Amino acid sequence: MALQGSTVSKQTQKSDQRYGHSGRIQSEQMVPLASLLCREVKCKKIEKPVVRCGLAAQPKKGEDFAFIKTDCQRIPGDSSSTYGVFAVFDGHNGSSAALYSRDHLLNDVLSAIPAGLDRDEWLSVLPRALVAGFVKTDKEFQEKEQTSGTTATFVVVDGWTVTAASVGDSRCILDSQGGVISLLTVDHRLEVNEEERERITASGGEVGRLSTVGGAEIGPLRCWPGGLCLSRSIGDMDVGEFIVPIPFVKQIKLSSAGGRLIIASDGVWDSLSSDRAANCCRGLPAELAAKQIVKETLKSRGLRDDTTCLVVDLIPPDNSLPSSPPLKNKNNLMGGCFSRRRPREASAKVAEKFTEMGIEELFEEGSAMLAERLGSEPSIPGEEGLFICAICQKDITPSEGISVHAGAFFSTSSRPWEGPFLCAACKMKKDAMEGKRTSQGIEVV
Ligand SMILES: [Zn+2]
Repeated sequence: MALQGSTVSKQTQKSDQRYGHSGRIQSEQMVPLASLLCREVKCKKIEKPVVRCGLAAQPKKGEDFAFIKTDCQRIPGDSSSTYGVFAVFDGHNGSSAALYSRDHLLNDVLSAIPAGLDRDEWLSVLPRALVAGFVKTDKEFQEKEQTSGTTATFVVVDGWTVTAASVGDSRCILDSQGGVISLLTVDHRLEVNEEERERITASGGEVGRLSTVGGAEIGPLRCWPGGLCLSRSIGDMDVGEFIVPIPFVKQIKLSSAGGRLIIASDGVWDSLSSDRAANCCRGLPAELAAKQIVKETLKSRGLRDDTTCLVVDLIPPDNSLPSSPPLKNKNNLMGGCFSRRRPREASAKVAEKFTEMGIEELFEEGSAMLAERLGSEPSIPGEEGLFICAICQKDITPSEGISVHAGAFFSTSSRPWEGPFLCAACKMKKDAMEGKRTSQGIEVV
C-alpha cells in the first residue's frame, strides 16, 4: 500500500533538467560540493516515505473497529498531496459509538480545515481541526440518543509528519529506526491519570471504586455517575458531561530513516508492554507484524478482550523493508513524558532523545479546555456577514455567535470578543464539559 505516487519521479525529472540529461553539470552551472550535498540532503527530506500498513484483530465482544484510508488528498485530484489516516476505536456498552466515529470522524475533522491552505498551513491547523472534529462527532452521536461510547485513536500520516489524536486508552506507539520506543498518546484512564481525576472532581464528578456489600472496594477507579473507567471518550451520553471528547494531540516529524507506528486497543496493551509489542515483530512487514502482536497478546493472557492491532510503517523510499535494529537496552521506553509525577522533567528527556534521533516535535497539547485548544482569531465575518461555528461548522449570525473565550478568566492572551465563535448549542456543550451546566442547559451554581 504505497502512498507515494509520482513524487519521486517528478523530483528526479527536476534534477535532470537542472544538471542536463547526461548527468554532467554544465560548466556555467558549477556549484561547490558542499552546496550539492546540501541540495541532496534537502531533496531527501522532501521525498515522501512509502507507507505500508497491516491490521490484525481477534474479537471477543465485537466492539473494536479499525479505519484505514491511504488515498486521502489535501488537494482533490493532486496525487502529490496524498496522505493516510489510520484509526482504532474500542467501543463499550455496545458498538454504535465506535461505528459512528469510524464513519464520521474523518469528515468532521476535515470540515474544520479551511480550503486553500498549502501543506505547511494544513499541517499547522490540523491539531485544532482534530479537536473540533472529535467534539463534533461526539455531539452529533449524542444527539442520536444512543448509549455506548468509544475510545478513538486517530493518526494522520502526511509524508514524514505524524499527527496522533486520542481519547481513551487505545495507545499509539512509535518504534523509531534506532530502536527507541515512544508513546504518542496518553492513557485517559482514571486509574493512572491524576490530572484527569483532578479535572473531573473539579467539574463536579466523583471518582471512586466499586464497593461490595461488605464495604470493600474493588476494581479500577471509576467516574460517577456512570461508573466509566475512562476520563475521555466519544459518546457516553449516560455518564457525566465531564467525560469529554477533547483529544490529546501530538504532532512529530520523523527523520528520513522512518519508523513504525503501532496503534492498538487495550486488549493488546493490558497484556503487552510497549517494548514487548515493538520487539516481538521487528523486521517483519506490517501485515505479519500486526498478526504477530495479536498472537503474542493471546499467548500472554489468552483472549480476555477485543484485541485489535494496526501497524503502519513509514519506509524510506529507497528501502523495500524497514530494517530491524536491536534494542540497545531494556529501558528505552519513552512513555515517561506522560508520567503523572514529573511530566516536565520527563518531557525534556523525551525531547532530547527525539532530537538525537532526528525527530522533530512539532506540537503537543492535552488540555480539556476548548478555549485553550481552539486558539484565537480576529472576528472577521465571512461572506454575507456570517460566522461559522468552530465545532459544528454551521453558519451563525454575529448576534448568535458566542466567543469560545467568553467567560474564560484563566486566559490572559485571549479576549472574549475575539473568535473562534460557537453556536448556542455548541456553547452549551462547552459549558457542560467544563461542569458549568448540565446537558439540559440547567446552570450549575
Ligand atoms: Zn455549533
